[in-house]
Amino acid sequence: MCQQMDANREPWDLGIIGGGATGLGIAVDAASRGLRVILFEQRDFAKGTSSRSTKLIHGGVRYLQQGNIRLVMEALRERGILRRNAPHLVKNQSFIIPQYKWWEGPFYGIGLKVYDWMSGSLGLGPSRYLSLEETLELAPTLDPEGLRGGVLYHDGQFDDARLAINLAQTAADLGAVLLSYFPVTGLKKSGGRITAIQVSDFLSEKVGEVPVKVLVNATGVFADEIMEMDEGKHESIVAPSQGVHIVLEKSFLPGRAAILVPHTDDGRVLFAVPWHDRIIVGTTDTLVDKPTLEPVALSEEIDFILQQIGHYLAKEPQKKDIRSVFAGLRPLVKNSSRKTAELSRDHLVQISSSGLITVTGGKWTTYRRMAQDVVDMALREGRLGERPCVTQQLPIHGAKEDTDFDSPLYYYGQDRDRVLALQKENPSLGDRIHPDLPYIGAEILWATRNDMCMTVEDALSRRTRSLLLDARAASEAAPLVAHIMAVELRKTDAWEETQVREFRLLANNYLPEGLGTGNGTAGTMIQNKSI
Ligand SMILES: Cc1cc2nc3c(=O)[nH]c(=O)nc-3n(C[C@H](O)[C@H](O)[C@H](O)COP(=O)(O)OP(=O)(O)OC[C@H]3O[C@@H](n4cnc5c(N)ncnc54)[C@H](O)[C@@H]3O)c2cc1C
Repeated sequence: MCQQMDANREPWDLGIIGGGATGLGIAVDAASRGLRVILFEQRDFAKGTSSRSTKLIHGGVRYLQQGNIRLVMEALRERGILRRNAPHLVKNQSFIIPQYKWWEGPFYGIGLKVYDWMSGSLGLGPSRYLSLEETLELAPTLDPEGLRGGVLYHDGQFDDARLAINLAQTAADLGAVLLSYFPVTGLKKSGGRITAIQVSDFLSEKVGEVPVKVLVNATGVFADEIMEMDEGKHESIVAPSQGVHIVLEKSFLPGRAAILVPHTDDGRVLFAVPWHDRIIVGTTDTLVDKPTLEPVALSEEIDFILQQIGHYLAKEPQKKDIRSVFAGLRPLVKNSSRKTAELSRDHLVQISSSGLITVTGGKWTTYRRMAQDVVDMALREGRLGERPCVTQQLPIHGAKEDTDFDSPLYYYGQDRDRVLALQKENPSLGDRIHPDLPYIGAEILWATRNDMCMTVEDALSRRTRSLLLDARAASEAAPLVAHIMAVELRKTDAWEETQVREFRLLANNYLPEGLGTGNGTAGTMIQNKSI
């Protein structure tokens, strides 16, 4: 990758800072329109918010409640497009809204009929009323006391980090160059216009300068930092808001259906969603002052989620039942008096006097549409010609029709057989990396060889989702994972030890205080460790 970067001193058509959903989507869009694209991510792809979502590809029932029809329409359309283009990752998920008060049935039932109607031909299935018996059959652990029935509807569900990797691969397949562990440290200008970006290699500490015609700032909650490199002191445009999820054993919600709690005590919606044989429950909304790459769940947030979901389940989950807890920061757009070049849906695309295009807000579901808006603007800004967007019809790397979501390793799509074939090299790679995790050694080798996986954290947090499914088990699996990677990458014993130590330190933050993994720094929480 570095050689590709160095060998090419011609300015790149488009430089992108940030390898989350937004930046990767822009790389795919721009490369598929024939632009020469280079993307820099300071750590691993999707290390930021994009691996910490609720894993829903959805129109947003909450936005419907708020009457934001245009936003819901757009998200529902994008949901349909993504399901068509990444059928190996986006699946149809049924949700139940339990009805405890008489008016909830008709109220949510009618709202969800509108949701169905808005999905049009891209709908995932009709919503319907459920009797008490049907509700308990689909969600047997719902608290039966006072339960009258429920409303069932459909939305999309996915694995966020895996989609991010597949987007990176799609962009690379189209000729883009994407570099992880390459922070952008400065911008170079000539005549008041940005002409190059300064980057450093996080692992080797080498620095370099990369000429670009147009530059996009897709750094999510870090957008203000890049704007400061561009303009110095400026009016901040991002308000980071923390959302926390807890992960529980499947036994707390054993059926296939997810639950939507439409009104928590603080007026939000709360989801409990089956995911990789566990249940994800969340989320919260806590404004934070400063963005960090490793936000840490507050104990009040964990207590709040336990308490809220406890109202709905016959067996209330306790802190000790939590397998993992993860926090992410929403890049919410602040109300801004700045002249905005384009204010569209819930994302904001704006351009500075030096030509820096900054995109903020939005959600995973709408990443494709955001990318289209950004690249349209980049073409105009860089006078790069008229090139229509083609991503509506562009299959994403791994796309495979008729995916059986119950079969092991389905999430690799077209690559699945190649992952399984690695066991021929070494049959022990067919063994699980830990008895409490669904992943096998072949997946670690595959990730190291093919999925741009550089560290044990990449392997356990985003190539497999071990850290999110069971932080303690992930911590225990770290030495084996480090060893598989070290053999493939020809790394030393010292590298393995450092990787395991660093990962275990991190994993402590994925369990509630007092329940730390006990390895590395037993029991210590690293509050909002800045990078
Ligand atoms: C709790 C929570 C739940 C959510 N649930 C959903 C959901 O279910 N469905 C949905 O559609 N959306 C959901 N979202 C929203 C969605 O996750 C985000 O909108 C999306 O992931 C934002 O992506 P991004 O690329 O803009 O930001 P990020 O994913 O944060 O990417 C920005 C990247 O920029 C990199 N970067 C920063 N500075 C530099 C630099 N100097 N040099 C190089 N790289 C840099 C960072 O390392 C980071 O990886 C949720 C969000 C949260 C917080």
